[in-house]
Amino acid sequence: MTTQHIPMFAQVNKYFDKASAHLDLAPGLLGAIKACNSVYRMQFPLKRDDGSIEVINGWRAQHSTHRLPTKGGIRYAANVDEDEVSALAALMTYKCALVDVPFGGAKGAVRIDPSKYSVDELERVTRRFTYELFAKNLIGPGMDVPAPDMGTGPREMAWIMDTYSTLAPGQIDAQGCVTGKPVTQGGVRGRAESTGRGVAFALREAMCYAEDMKPLGLSTGVEGKRIVIQGLGNVGYHAAKFIEGYGGIIIALLEREGAIYSEKGLDVDKVVAHRLETGSILGFSGATDYPSSRDALELDCDVLVPAALENQITGENVDRIKAKIIVEGANGPVTADASEKLLARGVLLLPDIYTNAGGVTVSYFEWVKNLSHMRYGRMEKRFQERSNERLLQAVEHLTGKHFTDDDRARSSEAAGEEELVNSGLEETMIAAYAELRTIQKVRNVDLRTAAFINAIGKVAMAYTQRGIFP
Ligand code: NAD
Repeated sequence: MTTQHIPMFAQVNKYFDKASAHLDLAPGLLGAIKACNSVYRMQFPLKRDDGSIEVINGWRAQHSTHRLPTKGGIRYAANVDEDEVSALAALMTYKCALVDVPFGGAKGAVRIDPSKYSVDELERVTRRFTYELFAKNLIGPGMDVPAPDMGTGPREMAWIMDTYSTLAPGQIDAQGCVTGKPVTQGGVRGRAESTGRGVAFALREAMCYAEDMKPLGLSTGVEGKRIVIQGLGNVGYHAAKFIEGYGGIIIALLEREGAIYSEKGLDVDKVVAHRLETGSILGFSGATDYPSSRDALELDCDVLVPAALENQITGENVDRIKAKIIVEGANGPVTADASEKLLARGVLLLPDIYTNAGGVTVSYFEWVKNLSHMRYGRMEKRFQERSNERLLQAVEHLTGKHFTDDDRARSSEAAGEEELVNSGLEETMIAAYAELRTIQKVRNVDLRTAAFINAIGKVAMAYTQRGIFP
């Protein structure tokens, strides 16, 4: 089937309006929060490897500057447009507010299919895009900080940082102009997996309440549940790995070229290795092929994680979706109308602005690391280890018990950067879910509405406490 074009910003604003009805805020203030502050559209030439010139379209939208810097990924995709970038920037505003990350919302995009360009061409596009942002003061550690999104990753972020540093020589905080960088270029350990890890934390949190699982006919816990995941990119792959780690059975994986299904469960890393070798997930040993990836969204399962792209569950297929829990790994994978139908059927829908907030949370940790110019854990690790060892010795002395070398190694080891980052992410996802669930119960609303109520309330507070610039 063909995908219909569904304006995304209108979808986000539907959620906003539904949540606003529960808030006692002045219409003018709500209007100010909802509006997309600014969108910069650029067109620039790319010299292709064959010598021809192509005009490239790009955007940077800053939805809300109630906190600075603004923050949001850069997407390289063939169909991206201004509406989508504005919608994604708005989602960033609400997402950051929800998880108490002190940024305004932004998003950037370049309209290219990255698979059709060489690495050299992608580097030229990325550097020129960065230059265009720099020339308009739309990038900088205190101004606007991009990150990876669909079609971009650490490599592009390193190019952005290098270009920015060249244009701003001697700026001591230059590394903080972008997040999602390779660890050797000022990135933080744990960033690459963070969004997928956060998705898995979100599912784990939602599934730990027996009273919420009972109406779905499910026991608590991810273990043993039948999971379908769409997208094996940054978010989908890591989400699949962590959910697999919790004992979830990945019964189907959906990619561009089709889907594969096995009731016994798919080994995610083996599927990835097979795809690298053959160029496709199809034909994986022991699995059934589904030539239409979209049809596989309708498979019977406990949990469906759409983690590829927007508008995947729409009015067209929603009545055939059988999942009991849907975790929005991607931004906007379920349309507003489809959401209403799913909620009416009692499906537990975990909204994108919560579930995929792990990426921006760890981006925040990376930015703070860049501004402090020091790796997390560097100052205290050895000190903490010695303190832990002294504690073990005291316990041995008092109890006469002797710890084995194994016990010692595990108990005295202090957290390094990765452990601290993961712990900060886990705390953020747990605390945010607790807030969401409380609002959901108290207001008797769905989780997405609860998330928007919480986020809008926090942005409104920032506006009103500071006053709106005349
Ligand atoms: P990615 O480019 O790394 O991965 C996307 C994957 O989806 C690719 O493997 C691609 O082949 C696959 N895909 C494309 N079309 C498909 C289709 N029709 N059916 C099945 N699979 C398809 O992108 P990503 O960074 O993983 O982002 C995915 C989604 O998550 C996007 O909506 C993005 O905005 C959102 N997101 C990403 C991050 C992040 O940190 N990367 C953070 C928050 C939200």
